[in-house]
Amino acid sequence: MKIEVLRKSLLATNERAAEENRSLFDRHGTVAVNLMGGAGCGKTSLLESIIPQLRPRWSVGVLEGDIATTRDAERIAALGVPVVQILTEGGCHLTASLVQHALERMPLEGMDILFIENVGNPICPANFDLGEHHRVAVLSVTEGDDKPLKYPYLFKVADLVVVSKADLLSATDFDVEEASRRIRTFDPCKPIMVTSARTFGMTDLVAEWFEARIPGYCADAVDQRELATTLPAEVWFG
Ligand code: MG
Ligand code: ZN
Repeated sequence: MKIEVLRKSLLATNERAAEENRSLFDRHGTVAVNLMGGAGCGKTSLLESIIPQLRPRWSVGVLEGDIATTRDAERIAALGVPVVQILTEGGCHLTASLVQHALERMPLEGMDILFIENVGNPICPANFDLGEHHRVAVLSVTEGDDKPLKYPYLFKVADLVVVSKADLLSATDFDVEEASRRIRTFDPCKPIMVTSARTFGMTDLVAEWFEARIPGYCADAVDQRELATTLPAEVWFG
């Protein structure tokens, strides 16, 4: 009973900080994305692939969550976008307060989209609202198509599921149809994009999905408005 009370007060404290983060993002017109998935699933590689596609037109920032080391933050900084490293010092997920502190060092003025790369962990990050607008789950084909059964909450809360490392499909027994059936247990329309950060052009639609969520995107130009409304809910690659 005591543990349940403690858990509830922990989540209530987190929710307060999350609401403060969300109103800060909204005041700046910044769309915030919480990128989640297991260790080594390809979250940083996905960012390395899509940020160069977004940068010509949009201002991008990254908060990089890790238990230790600044390796991933250095990879992002090499792209020429502002990045703030959040070291959790053993913590297995980001909290809204950790994000709030990191935001003190991240200039949001004029920023269109902020990616928050969570700690590599398919379990508890999904329970902690950071104040983001969208949640994206990354699942690599090397992790196995049973992961949506093992970590259902991650795939339930995600607005978009990115299946990564599709260039390795033939080397695994990952069944894309079976995985998508499992991912769509809670939402039969959940968008799933099969990608490879190593293959030219295979993350273009992920970049477009993000672009379409940037405030002001639709009002920008008629051709962009058409793009935003015709984006398919489901995209498969060969
Ligand atoms: Mg990473
Ligand atoms: Zn955790």
